[in-house]
Parts: sequence; structure tokens; C-alpha cells
Amino acid sequence: MHTALSMALKQGELFALYQPQLAIDGLHVVCAEALLRWQRPGMGLINPDDFVPFAEHNALIDELGSFILERACQTAADWGDLPVSINVSPLQFAQAGLVDSIFEVARRAGLPLSRLEIEITETAPFADLAAARAMIERLRAHGVTVSLDDLGSGYATTCLMRDLPVDRVKLAKSIVDLVVTSAGAEGIAKIVAQARELGLNVTAEGVETAEQLARLKACGCDRVQGFLFARPMSAGELSTFAGLTLG
Ligand code: C2E
Ligand code: CA
Repeated sequence: MHTALSMALKQGELFALYQPQLAIDGLHVVCAEALLRWQRPGMGLINPDDFVPFAEHNALIDELGSFILERACQTAADWGDLPVSINVSPLQFAQAGLVDSIFEVARRAGLPLSRLEIEITETAPFADLAAARAMIERLRAHGVTVSLDDLGSGYATTCLMRDLPVDRVKLAKSIVDLVVTSAGAEGIAKIVAQARELGLNVTAEGVETAEQLARLKACGCDRVQGFLFARPMSAGELSTFAGLTLG
């Protein structure tokens, strides 16, 4: 797997799809999330859940992270005003030069930092929370939006919501699925209220039905993402979906 993934990076087998994120009206695209895919010869299309955790535990996550950052910044530079959002593993925060390299890649791509969002995934714990906090503060001071991904699952507990100086939290699909029950809706409304008290915005991901959308709106979420609106798509399809004029 290590050899195959290293080769995949060199031989161009990895690429990104982009999934729109919409305002809570469900009509306006406000961002697009870059999601890694691996077209592995003889094995078809491999989803990130099947190789990102491996990369995290085998010293390949920095290389993968640099790849997606560069690719997504270059692609999004042509998207008019639309921001792009990129997943970053907590393990990448162990790299002291992470923030500088993000700034440098965005500058080279011609992407203003105000159009860059970073989603901190829940796939691993932070090695040094204080250092991560300082890095997040520096990103935000330069205009990058920072979200805490998958709230309600894994390591991204509501404690992290207090501990990390982020702009936004994303409710995990497993939590969003519960919004159709009255206990679930009550729980989500409480999380949203907690987030709002801390000055954070709330995205709901994995939204699949109109009923979920209506209830998430009532709970106070301001952004949604999910198959109800669009699946992850190529950069070209994203431009059309978002109604962009490429320049
Ligand atoms: P995530 O960041 O929580 O991304 C959302 C995942 O949910 C994506 O799966 C997306 O395709 C899927 N999804 C979106 N809407 C729906 C829906 O309505 N229903 C269902 N059933 N699924 C939905 P994907 O692309 O397989 O990515 C899985 C995870 O892999 C991501 O979860 C993220 O944690 C990680 N990942 C993806 N790309 C990268 C990357 O470039 N770097 C890092 N570190 N992690 C990545
Ligand atoms: Ca994400």
C-alpha cells in the first residue's frame, strides 16, 4: 500500500472531486469542498476512507496534503468569488511549516486567502493542541476560514469546539441523520446554540432529504452539504453547477 500510494502521487492517479456547500436556503452555492479520489489501475476508484487513514499512519499524509492543497488552490483560482474548502488532518499540524506552505501554495496559485477554507478532519488527535491553536489563529489572521469537521463523531467533540479558535463547525452525517426525531432535533438545536454562543457558524453535512433540510434550518444551521443538492463532481461540473463564469 505504501509503495502503491507513493507511486500514485507521482504518477497522477490521485485527483479531487468537488462537492458544493450551500446556504441554508438550499439554493446558493457558497463554497465547494475538495475530496480526494484515487483511480488505482486494475482496482477502480478508491474512496479516501480507504487510504487517508493509511497515509496518516504511514508518514504519507503530508505529501497527500500538499498534493490536494496545490491541486485545489490551482483549480479554485478560476472560480470567480467562490471559496474552496480543503480537508487537513490534525496530524499535518505537527508539521511546523504547515501554515507557511498553505500561504505559499495559495499565493502561487493566485487564490486570495479569503477564498480558502480549511476543514480540520476528525480522523486523529492533535499531538500538540497549543501549537495547533496558534497555527489556526495565524491562518485566520490572514483571512483563511477554519472549520472543525465531523462534529459529534470521533475526536471532534464539543470540547474541541471550545478549545480551538475556529470559525465554523460541521455536524457529522451520523448526527444530521438524527434530526428527523424529536430528541435528535433537540440535541442538534442545543449544539447549534452552544456553537452560536461561541460565535461559530454551523454546517450540516450528509443532508439527503427535504425534511432534514427544513429541520436543520429550524435548528439554526446556516450551511448545508449533501446528496439532496449535489454529489461530489469534477471541477468542470462544479463550475456549471455553481453557475460560474470562468475567466
Ligand atoms: P468528510 O470531510 O466528512 O467529507 C464528507 C464525506 O461525506 C465525503 O465522502 C462525501 O462524499 C460524503 N457525503 C457528502 N454528502 C453526503 C450525503 O448526502 N450522503 C452520504 N452518504 N455521504 C455524503 P468521501 O469523499 O468519501 O470522503 C470521506 C472522508 O475522507 C472525508 O470526510 C474526509 O475526512 C476524508 N478526506 C477526503 N479528502 C481528503 C483530503 O484531501 N485530505 C484529508 N486529510 N482527508 C480527506
Ligand atoms: Ca470535510
